[in-house]
Amino acid sequence: MLKNLFKLLFPTLCDGCNSLLIKNEKILCTSCVHNLPFTNHHLTDNNETKNKFYGLIDIEFACSMLVFSHDGIVQKMIHQLKYKNRQEIGNYLGKLYIPEIKNKIITNKIDYIIPVPLHPEKMKKRGYNQVTTFCETLSKELEIPYNSEILFRNKNTSTQTKKNKEERQAINLKSFEAKTDIEFQNKHFLLVDDVITTGSTIESCAKALLKIPNTKVSIIAIAYT
Ligand SMILES: [Zn+2]
Repeated sequence: MLKNLFKLLFPTLCDGCNSLLIKNEKILCTSCVHNLPFTNHHLTDNNETKNKFYGLIDIEFACSMLVFSHDGIVQKMIHQLKYKNRQEIGNYLGKLYIPEIKNKIITNKIDYIIPVPLHPEKMKKRGYNQVTTFCETLSKELEIPYNSEILFRNKNTSTQTKKNKEERQAINLKSFEAKTDIEFQNKHFLLVDDVITTGSTIESCAKALLKIPNTKVSIIAIAYT
């Protein structure tokens, strides 16, 4: 009763088109879910996400869930997830992606799900890493440990907004480190990011992880441009 009254006073709107959500709809209305631009990268080894890293790093598989376009649904959702503390969107997208990506993750025997670490300054300001809830959903549903401590950022790197591409890449390479303890050796890590653009951040993260003896790295992004 009270819950219904609350819903009447504060109806939930679709994050894609702002229409009223009906019973059992969450985040997106049925029509927007059908229009989500899935990449289907999981169906082929030779996809746009993996090709971004061709010749740069040795990876097992790489998949992006969605295509990111400016002013599209994906952009809206990621903006809410990243800047408006709508962390439930990460859970939602994770659940939506599991039926597609499950087999790939299971057959590749992933040992740990690892987020791209947020810069400490950003973490302080935002209070959360935007990929955490997405990772946690995959972790829980697929029963693979989530670990946000194996890979970390060096303390002395400034945020990158005012630097050019070359400067950013040089800094990125030195920005990440991984724990090389014996318990993390001989493992297959699944590195997760929100949006892959140039891929240089992921590349640096993967290089740090690959310094751990006998490691394998795979990559998942919520979206790519
Ligand atoms: Zn909608």
